[in-house]
Amino acid sequence: MKSKVDIAIIGGGIIGLMTAFELAKRGEESIAVYEKRYIGSGSTFRCGTGIRQQFGDPANIQMMKRSVEKWKTLGEDMEFPKFKFAQTGYLFLLYSEKEVENFKKNVQLQNSYGIPSRIISPEEAREIVPGLDISEVIAASWNHTDGKANPFLAVYGLSRALKRMDVEINEYTEVQEIMVKDSRITGVKTSKGEVKADIVLNAANAWAKILNQKLGLDFPIEPYKHQGIVTEPFKLGEIKPMVVSFKYGGAYLTQKANGGLIGGIALKYGPTWDLTPTYEFLREVSKNFTKIIPALKYMSIIRQWGGYYAETPDHNAVIGKIEEIEGYYLAAGFSGHGFMLAPAVAEGMAELITKGHTSLPLDFYDPYRFKRGELREQAIQMG
Ligand SMILES: Cc1cc2nc3c(=O)[nH]c(=O)nc-3n(C[C@H](O)[C@H](O)[C@H](O)COP(=O)(O)OP(=O)(O)OC[C@H]3O[C@@H](n4cnc5c(N)ncnc54)[C@H](O)[C@@H]3O)c2cc1C
Repeated sequence: MKSKVDIAIIGGGIIGLMTAFELAKRGEESIAVYEKRYIGSGSTFRCGTGIRQQFGDPANIQMMKRSVEKWKTLGEDMEFPKFKFAQTGYLFLLYSEKEVENFKKNVQLQNSYGIPSRIISPEEAREIVPGLDISEVIAASWNHTDGKANPFLAVYGLSRALKRMDVEINEYTEVQEIMVKDSRITGVKTSKGEVKADIVLNAANAWAKILNQKLGLDFPIEPYKHQGIVTEPFKLGEIKPMVVSFKYGGAYLTQKANGGLIGGIALKYGPTWDLTPTYEFLREVSKNFTKIIPALKYMSIIRQWGGYYAETPDHNAVIGKIEEIEGYYLAAGFSGHGFMLAPAVAEGMAELITKGHTSLPLDFYDPYRFKRGELREQAIQMG
Protein backbone atom coordinates (compact mmCIF):
# COMPACT_ATOMS: atom_id res chain seq x y z
CA MET A 1 0.00 0.00 0.00
CA LYS A 2 1.36 3.42 -0.98
CA SER A 3 2.11 5.82 1.88
CA LYS A 4 1.23 8.88 -0.22
CA VAL A 5 -1.39 9.46 -2.90
CA ASP A 6 -3.02 12.52 -4.45
CA ILE A 7 -6.62 11.37 -4.05
CA ALA A 8 -7.87 8.93 -1.38
CA ILE A 9 -11.34 7.50 -1.93
CA ILE A 10 -13.11 5.93 1.04
CA GLY A 11 -15.55 3.20 -0.03
CA GLY A 12 -15.30 0.60 -2.78
CA GLY A 13 -18.93 0.69 -3.81
CA ILE A 14 -20.17 1.75 -7.23
CA ILE A 15 -19.76 5.46 -6.37
CA GLY A 16 -16.17 5.22 -5.11
CA LEU A 17 -15.04 2.93 -7.94
CA MET A 18 -16.80 4.85 -10.70
CA THR A 19 -15.38 8.17 -9.42
CA ALA A 20 -11.88 6.64 -9.34
CA PHE A 21 -12.46 5.54 -12.96
CA GLU A 22 -13.55 9.03 -14.07
CA LEU A 23 -10.58 10.62 -12.28
CA ALA A 24 -8.11 8.18 -13.84
CA LYS A 25 -9.63 8.81 -17.28
CA ARG A 26 -8.93 12.52 -16.73
CA GLY A 27 -5.24 11.76 -16.20
CA GLU A 28 -5.09 11.70 -12.39
CA GLU A 29 -2.16 9.39 -11.70
CA SER A 30 -2.16 8.81 -7.99
CA ILE A 31 -5.51 7.53 -6.75
CA ALA A 32 -6.27 4.92 -4.09
CA VAL A 33 -9.56 3.35 -2.99
CA TYR A 34 -9.92 2.04 0.57
CA GLU A 35 -12.64 -0.55 1.23
CA LYS A 36 -13.17 -1.99 4.68
CA ARG A 37 -14.50 -5.32 3.36
CA TYR A 38 -14.47 -6.35 -0.32
CA ILE A 39 -15.48 -4.08 -3.20
CA GLY A 40 -19.24 -4.06 -3.80
CA SER A 41 -19.97 -5.55 -0.36
CA GLY A 42 -21.88 -2.49 0.91
CA SER A 43 -25.18 -1.60 -0.76
CA THR A 44 -23.96 -2.09 -4.32
CA PHE A 45 -24.07 -5.91 -4.50
CA ARG A 46 -27.43 -5.87 -2.68
CA CYS A 47 -29.22 -3.61 -5.14
CA GLY A 48 -32.20 -4.32 -7.36
CA THR A 49 -30.31 -3.53 -10.61
CA GLY A 50 -32.78 -0.84 -11.76
CA ILE A 51 -31.74 2.20 -13.84
CA ARG A 52 -34.44 4.75 -14.67
CA GLN A 53 -34.87 8.31 -15.86
CA GLN A 54 -38.46 8.53 -14.67
CA PHE A 55 -37.96 10.97 -11.80
CA GLY A 56 -40.16 13.93 -10.88
CA ASP A 57 -37.61 16.76 -10.65
CA PRO A 58 -35.27 18.36 -13.22
CA ALA A 59 -31.98 17.52 -11.46
CA ASN A 60 -32.53 13.77 -11.07
CA ILE A 61 -33.95 13.58 -14.61
CA GLN A 62 -30.89 15.33 -16.09
CA MET A 63 -28.46 13.31 -13.99
CA MET A 64 -30.15 10.08 -15.02
CA LYS A 65 -30.23 11.10 -18.68
CA ARG A 66 -26.45 11.54 -18.51
CA SER A 67 -26.05 8.31 -16.52
CA VAL A 68 -27.98 6.32 -19.12
CA GLU A 69 -25.73 7.69 -21.89
CA LYS A 70 -22.76 6.49 -19.88
CA TRP A 71 -24.28 3.13 -18.86
CA LYS A 72 -24.74 2.41 -22.58
CA THR A 73 -21.01 2.63 -23.31
CA LEU A 74 -19.62 1.46 -19.96
CA GLY A 75 -18.79 -2.07 -21.20
CA GLU A 76 -16.68 -0.56 -24.00
CA ASP A 77 -15.21 2.15 -21.78
CA MET A 78 -14.06 -0.45 -19.23
CA GLU A 79 -12.89 -2.78 -22.03
CA PHE A 80 -15.18 -5.40 -20.52
CA PRO A 81 -17.88 -6.14 -23.14
CA LYS A 82 -19.41 -8.83 -20.93
CA PHE A 83 -20.98 -5.97 -18.98
CA LYS A 84 -24.21 -4.89 -20.67
CA PHE A 85 -26.81 -2.26 -19.89
CA ALA A 86 -30.13 -3.98 -20.70
CA GLN A 87 -32.33 -1.16 -21.99
CA THR A 88 -35.58 -2.98 -21.25
CA GLY A 89 -37.62 -0.09 -19.81
CA TYR A 90 -39.47 0.79 -16.61
CA LEU A 91 -43.23 0.33 -16.30
CA PHE A 92 -45.07 2.11 -13.45
CA LEU A 93 -48.56 0.66 -12.98
CA LEU A 94 -51.14 3.29 -12.04
CA TYR A 95 -54.38 2.55 -10.22
CA SER A 96 -56.04 5.91 -9.44
CA GLU A 97 -56.79 9.19 -11.20
CA LYS A 98 -54.55 10.98 -8.69
CA GLU A 99 -51.62 8.70 -9.52
CA VAL A 100 -52.23 9.24 -13.26
CA GLU A 101 -52.29 13.03 -12.79
CA ASN A 102 -48.97 12.94 -10.90
CA PHE A 103 -47.33 10.71 -13.46
CA LYS A 104 -48.64 12.84 -16.34
CA LYS A 105 -46.86 15.83 -14.79
CA ASN A 106 -43.67 13.79 -14.40
CA VAL A 107 -43.87 12.55 -17.99
CA GLN A 108 -44.30 16.11 -19.24
CA LEU A 109 -41.21 17.19 -17.32
CA GLN A 110 -39.24 14.13 -18.48
CA ASN A 111 -40.27 14.79 -22.11
CA SER A 112 -39.07 18.41 -21.80
CA TYR A 113 -35.57 16.96 -21.14
CA GLY A 114 -35.82 14.59 -24.10
CA ILE A 115 -36.79 11.44 -22.18
CA PRO A 116 -39.32 9.53 -24.34
CA SER A 117 -41.57 8.39 -21.46
CA ARG A 118 -45.34 8.27 -22.05
CA ILE A 119 -48.60 7.29 -20.41
CA ILE A 120 -49.99 4.08 -21.90
CA SER A 121 -53.18 2.03 -21.50
CA PRO A 122 -53.44 -1.10 -19.32
CA GLU A 123 -53.71 -3.21 -22.49
CA GLU A 124 -50.45 -1.78 -23.84
CA ALA A 125 -48.83 -2.49 -20.48
CA ARG A 126 -49.94 -6.11 -20.78
CA GLU A 127 -48.44 -6.32 -24.25
CA ILE A 128 -45.10 -5.39 -22.65
CA VAL A 129 -45.51 -7.81 -19.72
CA PRO A 130 -48.04 -10.52 -20.65
CA GLY A 131 -48.44 -11.89 -17.12
CA LEU A 132 -49.71 -8.62 -15.57
CA ASP A 133 -53.02 -8.50 -13.73
CA ILE A 134 -54.50 -5.31 -15.20
CA SER A 135 -57.97 -5.66 -13.64
CA GLU A 136 -57.32 -2.66 -11.34
CA VAL A 137 -54.75 -0.82 -13.48
CA ILE A 138 -56.11 2.30 -15.22
CA ALA A 139 -52.90 3.44 -16.98
CA ALA A 140 -49.13 3.02 -16.85
CA SER A 141 -46.09 5.24 -17.21
CA TRP A 142 -43.62 3.67 -19.64
CA ASN A 143 -40.12 4.56 -20.75
CA HIS A 144 -38.32 2.14 -23.01
CA THR A 145 -34.92 3.81 -22.55
CA ASP A 146 -34.75 2.94 -18.83
CA GLY A 147 -33.31 -0.45 -17.91
CA LYS A 148 -31.11 -2.52 -15.64
CA ALA A 149 -27.55 -3.77 -15.23
CA ASN A 150 -25.70 -6.39 -13.24
CA PRO A 151 -23.85 -4.73 -10.31
CA PHE A 152 -21.42 -7.67 -9.98
CA LEU A 153 -20.24 -7.27 -13.58
CA ALA A 154 -20.12 -3.46 -13.24
CA VAL A 155 -17.88 -3.69 -10.15
CA TYR A 156 -15.73 -6.46 -11.63
CA GLY A 157 -15.28 -4.53 -14.90
CA LEU A 158 -14.41 -1.34 -13.03
CA SER A 159 -11.89 -3.08 -10.79
CA ARG A 160 -10.12 -4.59 -13.82
CA ALA A 161 -10.03 -1.21 -15.57
CA LEU A 162 -8.78 0.55 -12.43
CA LYS A 163 -5.96 -1.94 -11.96
CA ARG A 164 -4.95 -1.39 -15.59
CA MET A 165 -4.95 2.35 -14.93
CA ASP A 166 -2.73 1.92 -11.84
CA VAL A 167 -5.39 2.91 -9.35
CA GLU A 168 -4.67 1.20 -6.06
CA ILE A 169 -7.63 -0.76 -4.66
CA ASN A 170 -7.11 -1.70 -1.02
CA GLU A 171 -9.66 -4.22 0.22
CA TYR A 172 -10.07 -5.12 3.90
CA THR A 173 -8.59 -1.71 4.67
CA GLU A 174 -10.76 0.40 6.91
CA VAL A 175 -10.33 4.15 7.10
CA GLN A 176 -10.44 4.85 10.82
CA GLU A 177 -9.90 8.55 10.64
CA ILE A 178 -9.63 11.33 8.12
CA MET A 179 -6.56 13.40 8.97
CA VAL A 180 -6.85 17.19 8.96
CA LYS A 181 -4.42 19.96 9.85
CA ASP A 182 -5.23 23.68 9.87
CA SER A 183 -8.58 22.93 8.19
CA ARG A 184 -6.89 21.07 5.29
CA ILE A 185 -6.94 17.37 4.46
CA THR A 186 -3.58 15.73 5.14
CA GLY A 187 -4.48 12.06 4.61
CA VAL A 188 -6.25 9.03 6.04
CA LYS A 189 -5.46 6.75 8.94
CA THR A 190 -6.31 3.18 7.90
CA SER A 191 -6.26 -0.21 9.61
CA LYS A 192 -3.06 -0.86 7.64
CA GLY A 193 -1.30 2.44 8.33
CA GLU A 194 -1.36 6.13 7.50
CA VAL A 195 -1.50 7.49 3.98
CA LYS A 196 -0.80 11.11 3.08
CA ALA A 197 -3.24 12.72 0.64
CA ASP A 198 -4.36 16.22 -0.31
CA ILE A 199 -7.83 15.18 -1.39
CA VAL A 200 -10.24 12.76 0.29
CA LEU A 201 -13.59 11.65 -1.10
CA ASN A 202 -15.96 10.11 1.43
CA ALA A 203 -17.99 7.60 -0.62
CA ALA A 204 -18.85 5.40 2.36
CA ASN A 205 -22.62 5.79 1.80
CA ALA A 206 -24.41 4.35 4.86
CA TRP A 207 -21.23 4.72 6.94
CA ALA A 208 -20.34 8.23 5.71
CA LYS A 209 -21.79 9.85 8.81
CA ILE A 210 -19.46 7.97 11.17
CA LEU A 211 -16.41 9.52 9.51
CA ASN A 212 -18.06 12.94 9.26
CA GLN A 213 -18.93 12.94 12.95
CA LYS A 214 -15.29 12.28 13.86
CA LEU A 215 -14.54 15.54 12.04
CA GLY A 216 -17.31 17.38 13.87
CA LEU A 217 -19.45 17.50 10.71
CA ASP A 218 -23.10 16.53 10.61
CA PHE A 219 -24.96 15.67 7.42
CA PRO A 220 -28.13 13.63 7.97
CA ILE A 221 -27.53 10.19 6.41
CA GLU A 222 -29.05 7.21 8.23
CA PRO A 223 -28.90 3.45 7.53
CA TYR A 224 -32.28 1.79 6.88
CA LYS A 225 -32.67 -1.94 6.26
CA HIS A 226 -34.34 -2.78 2.96
CA GLN A 227 -34.52 -6.28 1.52
CA GLY A 228 -34.52 -8.02 -1.83
CA ILE A 229 -35.35 -11.47 -3.16
CA VAL A 230 -34.57 -13.62 -6.18
CA THR A 231 -36.65 -16.54 -7.42
CA GLU A 232 -35.73 -19.68 -9.28
CA PRO A 233 -35.31 -19.08 -13.04
CA PHE A 234 -38.22 -19.21 -15.50
CA LYS A 235 -38.61 -18.73 -19.26
CA LEU A 236 -36.55 -15.72 -20.36
CA GLY A 237 -38.30 -12.65 -21.74
CA GLU A 238 -41.43 -12.92 -19.55
CA ILE A 239 -40.77 -9.75 -17.47
CA LYS A 240 -38.34 -7.61 -19.45
CA PRO A 241 -38.81 -4.17 -17.84
CA MET A 242 -38.70 -3.17 -14.19
CA VAL A 243 -42.36 -3.24 -13.14
CA VAL A 244 -43.34 -0.88 -10.32
CA SER A 245 -46.55 -0.73 -8.29
CA PHE A 246 -46.92 1.80 -5.48
CA LYS A 247 -50.38 0.38 -4.70
CA TYR A 248 -48.99 -3.07 -4.04
CA GLY A 249 -46.34 -2.49 -1.44
CA GLY A 250 -44.21 -0.03 -3.42
CA ALA A 251 -43.07 -3.14 -5.26
CA TYR A 252 -40.45 -3.30 -8.00
CA LEU A 253 -39.60 -6.49 -9.87
CA THR A 254 -37.89 -7.66 -13.06
CA GLN A 255 -36.41 -10.78 -14.60
CA LYS A 256 -32.62 -11.11 -14.55
CA ALA A 257 -30.53 -12.30 -17.48
CA ASN A 258 -30.25 -15.78 -15.88
CA GLY A 259 -34.05 -16.11 -15.72
CA GLY A 260 -34.68 -15.47 -12.02
CA LEU A 261 -36.89 -12.64 -10.76
CA ILE A 262 -35.30 -9.91 -8.62
CA GLY A 263 -37.17 -7.28 -6.63
CA GLY A 264 -38.38 -5.83 -3.38
CA ILE A 265 -41.04 -3.75 -1.66
CA ALA A 266 -41.17 -0.57 0.43
CA LEU A 267 -40.91 -2.25 3.80
CA LYS A 268 -38.08 -0.68 5.73
CA TYR A 269 -36.63 -0.90 9.23
CA GLY A 270 -34.49 1.58 11.04
CA PRO A 271 -32.36 3.49 11.35
CA THR A 272 -30.48 0.29 12.16
CA TRP A 273 -27.23 -1.53 11.46
CA ASP A 274 -29.05 -4.89 11.67
CA LEU A 275 -29.37 -6.53 8.25
CA THR A 276 -31.06 -9.78 9.29
CA PRO A 277 -33.70 -10.76 6.69
CA THR A 278 -37.26 -10.83 8.09
CA TYR A 279 -40.16 -13.22 7.65
CA GLU A 280 -42.50 -10.18 7.48
CA PHE A 281 -40.73 -9.07 4.31
CA LEU A 282 -40.93 -12.54 2.75
CA ARG A 283 -44.66 -12.70 3.41
CA GLU A 284 -45.38 -9.16 2.17
CA VAL A 285 -43.21 -9.50 -0.94
CA SER A 286 -45.03 -12.72 -1.90
CA LYS A 287 -48.46 -11.18 -1.28
CA ASN A 288 -47.76 -8.03 -3.28
CA PHE A 289 -45.81 -9.59 -6.18
CA THR A 290 -48.59 -12.12 -6.83
CA LYS A 291 -51.15 -9.27 -6.98
CA ILE A 292 -49.10 -7.73 -9.79
CA ILE A 293 -48.29 -10.97 -11.68
CA PRO A 294 -50.49 -13.81 -10.37
CA ALA A 295 -48.43 -16.60 -12.02
CA LEU A 296 -45.55 -15.72 -9.68
CA LYS A 297 -47.34 -17.78 -7.04
CA TYR A 298 -45.87 -20.85 -8.75
CA MET A 299 -42.28 -19.63 -8.32
CA SER A 300 -40.04 -20.37 -5.36
CA ILE A 301 -37.99 -17.64 -3.74
CA ILE A 302 -34.46 -18.97 -3.51
CA ARG A 303 -32.66 -16.09 -1.79
CA GLN A 304 -33.48 -13.12 0.43
CA TRP A 305 -31.07 -10.49 1.74
CA GLY A 306 -30.90 -7.21 3.59
CA GLY A 307 -29.00 -4.08 2.54
CA TYR A 308 -28.83 -0.43 3.49
CA TYR A 309 -30.64 2.45 1.90
CA ALA A 310 -28.49 5.32 3.20
CA GLU A 311 -31.34 7.77 3.58
CA THR A 312 -31.47 11.54 3.88
CA PRO A 313 -34.62 13.48 4.86
CA ASP A 314 -35.53 14.13 1.17
CA HIS A 315 -34.15 10.84 -0.21
CA ASN A 316 -31.64 12.73 -2.32
CA ALA A 317 -27.92 12.19 -1.89
CA VAL A 318 -25.40 14.52 -0.28
CA ILE A 319 -22.79 15.46 -2.86
CA GLY A 320 -20.21 18.22 -2.95
CA LYS A 321 -17.19 19.99 -1.56
CA ILE A 322 -17.10 20.35 2.21
CA GLU A 323 -16.55 24.00 3.05
CA GLU A 324 -15.04 23.53 6.50
CA ILE A 325 -12.12 21.36 5.31
CA GLU A 326 -10.04 22.14 2.21
CA GLY A 327 -9.70 19.03 0.03
CA TYR A 328 -12.65 17.11 1.53
CA TYR A 329 -15.51 15.90 -0.69
CA LEU A 330 -18.63 13.89 0.07
CA ALA A 331 -20.80 11.70 -2.19
CA ALA A 332 -23.07 9.56 -0.02
CA GLY A 333 -26.64 8.95 1.12
CA PHE A 334 -28.01 7.51 -2.10
CA SER A 335 -31.16 5.82 -0.75
CA GLY A 336 -32.57 3.43 -3.38
CA HIS A 337 -31.04 5.06 -6.44
CA GLY A 338 -27.26 5.22 -6.06
CA PHE A 339 -26.45 2.43 -8.46
CA MET A 340 -28.30 4.08 -11.34
CA LEU A 341 -26.90 7.56 -10.61
CA ALA A 342 -23.27 6.45 -10.28
CA PRO A 343 -21.96 7.29 -13.78
CA ALA A 344 -23.21 10.90 -13.70
CA VAL A 345 -22.30 11.42 -10.04
CA ALA A 346 -18.79 10.11 -10.76
CA GLU A 347 -18.41 12.37 -13.77
CA GLY A 348 -19.63 15.40 -11.83
CA MET A 349 -17.45 14.61 -8.85
CA ALA A 350 -14.35 14.08 -11.04
CA GLU A 351 -14.98 17.45 -12.72
CA LEU A 352 -15.50 19.13 -9.36
CA ILE A 353 -12.24 17.69 -8.01
CA THR A 354 -10.12 18.37 -11.10
CA LYS A 355 -11.65 21.61 -12.42
CA GLY A 356 -13.52 23.03 -9.43
CA HIS A 357 -16.86 23.04 -11.26
CA THR A 358 -19.20 20.81 -13.26
CA SER A 359 -21.97 21.41 -15.76
CA LEU A 360 -24.03 18.65 -14.13
CA PRO A 361 -26.64 19.82 -11.60
CA LEU A 362 -24.78 18.64 -8.49
CA ASP A 363 -25.96 21.75 -6.63
CA PHE A 364 -29.27 19.99 -6.16
CA TYR A 365 -27.50 17.56 -3.79
CA ASP A 366 -25.82 20.40 -1.84
CA PRO A 367 -24.73 19.02 1.55
CA TYR A 368 -25.69 22.29 3.28
CA ARG A 369 -29.36 22.30 2.18
CA PHE A 370 -30.43 20.59 5.41
CA LYS A 371 -28.78 23.22 7.59
CA ARG A 372 -30.49 25.93 5.56
CA GLY A 373 -33.81 24.07 5.86
CA GLU A 374 -34.07 23.83 2.06
CA LEU A 375 -35.06 20.23 1.58
CA ARG A 376 -35.71 19.10 -1.98
CA GLU A 377 -38.92 17.52 -3.15
CA GLN A 378 -38.88 13.84 -2.12
CA ALA A 379 -37.16 11.83 -4.86
CA ILE A 380 -39.37 9.14 -6.41
CA GLN A 381 -38.20 6.00 -4.69
CA MET A 382 -39.12 2.35 -4.80
CA GLY A 383 -38.58 -0.15 -2.07
C1 LIG B 1 -32.53 -3.96 -1.49
C2 LIG B 1 -31.91 -2.81 -2.25
C3 LIG B 1 -32.33 -2.54 -3.55
C4 LIG B 1 -31.78 -1.47 -4.26
N1 LIG B 1 -32.16 -1.28 -5.57
C5 LIG B 1 -31.57 -0.30 -6.30
C6 LIG B 1 -31.87 -0.15 -7.69
O1 LIG B 1 -32.65 -0.91 -8.28
N2 LIG B 1 -31.24 0.85 -8.37
C7 LIG B 1 -30.36 1.71 -7.77
O2 LIG B 1 -29.87 2.60 -8.42
N3 LIG B 1 -30.06 1.57 -6.46
C8 LIG B 1 -30.63 0.59 -5.72
N4 LIG B 1 -30.29 0.44 -4.40
C9 LIG B 1 -29.40 1.43 -3.78
C10 LIG B 1 -27.96 1.18 -4.19
O3 LIG B 1 -27.60 -0.13 -3.84
C11 LIG B 1 -27.06 2.19 -3.47
O4 LIG B 1 -27.59 3.49 -3.54
C12 LIG B 1 -25.67 2.19 -4.11
O5 LIG B 1 -25.15 0.90 -4.19
C13 LIG B 1 -24.76 3.11 -3.31
O6 LIG B 1 -23.43 2.92 -3.75
P1 LIG B 1 -22.24 3.48 -2.88
O7 LIG B 1 -20.99 3.20 -3.58
O8 LIG B 1 -22.55 4.89 -2.49
O9 LIG B 1 -22.37 2.67 -1.51
P2 LIG B 1 -21.89 1.23 -1.06
O10 LIG B 1 -22.04 0.23 -2.13
O11 LIG B 1 -22.56 0.95 0.23
O12 LIG B 1 -20.35 1.43 -0.85
C14 LIG B 1 -19.82 2.08 0.29
C15 LIG B 1 -18.62 1.24 0.73
O13 LIG B 1 -17.90 1.94 1.73
C16 LIG B 1 -17.29 0.97 2.55
N5 LIG B 1 -16.89 1.64 3.79
C17 LIG B 1 -17.70 2.18 4.73
N6 LIG B 1 -16.98 2.74 5.72
C18 LIG B 1 -15.69 2.56 5.39
C19 LIG B 1 -14.46 2.91 6.00
N7 LIG B 1 -14.43 3.58 7.17
N8 LIG B 1 -13.31 2.55 5.40
C20 LIG B 1 -13.31 1.87 4.22
N9 LIG B 1 -14.45 1.51 3.59
C21 LIG B 1 -15.62 1.86 4.16
C22 LIG B 1 -18.39 -0.07 2.73
O14 LIG B 1 -17.88 -1.31 3.14
C23 LIG B 1 -19.01 -0.09 1.35
O15 LIG B 1 -18.53 -1.15 0.54
C24 LIG B 1 -30.81 -0.63 -3.65
C25 LIG B 1 -30.37 -0.91 -2.36
C26 LIG B 1 -30.90 -1.98 -1.65
C27 LIG B 1 -30.41 -2.26 -0.27
